[in-house]
Amino acid sequence: MQGLASAFAGRRAVLATMHGKERAIGPAFRDILGIDIEVPGDLDTDQLGTFSGEIERPGSMDEVLVAKARLGLKVPGLDLAIASEGSFGPHPQMPFIPVGLEKIVLIDAKSGLVAIDQSVDLSPTYVSWETRCLTDIADQVRAAGFPDQAMIVRPHIFPASRAQRGLQTLENLEAAIVQAARVSSDGLAFVQTDMRAHFNPKRMMSIGSLARKFAGRLSRTCSMCAAPGWGVKRTEQGLPCSWCGAPTQWVLYEVLGCYACDNERPMPRSDGLTEADPAHCQYCNP
Ligand SMILES: [Zn+2]
Ligand SMILES: [Zn+2]
Repeated sequence: MQGLASAFAGRRAVLATMHGKERAIGPAFRDILGIDIEVPGDLDTDQLGTFSGEIERPGSMDEVLVAKARLGLKVPGLDLAIASEGSFGPHPQMPFIPVGLEKIVLIDAKSGLVAIDQSVDLSPTYVSWETRCLTDIADQVRAAGFPDQAMIVRPHIFPASRAQRGLQTLENLEAAIVQAARVSSDGLAFVQTDMRAHFNPKRMMSIGSLARKFAGRLSRTCSMCAAPGWGVKRTEQGLPCSWCGAPTQWVLYEVLGCYACDNERPMPRSDGLTEADPAHCQYCNP
């Protein structure tokens, strides 16, 4: 079986980022896989969409992710590319809870491998306010981590104008709020946390943990085809209720799989749990 060391060690990868993600991604790929990361100076990943919505993202999150990595592959002499992409919104089941989805891709142009991994952050720094003045939200903005956590300000309602991004001083934040509130037809400014990695410390941490998980997965090879990236491919729900035995939403087992072939192996839960709490059963605790 071909070891991972021969697949990646000593190679250089281009990381398509304008947002300092090499700080979060570089160490994991260097320490676990022996890949050195390069960030090209003249890359415009904003052409693939921005968080504040000035440029809409074309296609699905995976398509944007892969397109971003392929941008990186245009750098002459490099055949390995990495990119990451985040998406933030309300939790699908609990709309009051914000949730972040982080994805990362590695494309190996030499072998044709396109490997994607993801993680969910149930406590991202992702908040917004509608306000007339900074004083009303000053405490909440500070609680969200300002000024290390930067803010974005735009008028709440039409006329649409360019958002002011990356605000990290009280003076700039206040001026932006006053200006946006003045032009908005309802007199309110819309203030939100900047989600770009270099302006969102919590996000940078999440990308770092995902990079370590992904690099670990890429260090394991498939026993059938020897491709790198053996790891959790999907989960199956249906852990039985401990009272009535009915299947619940809880994960029953994880399916390990390969990016390159159909080799799969179901694995029992790593925490050893074989029954679900009846509190999560649709019959015992409706
Ligand atoms: Zn039950
Ligand atoms: Zn395989």
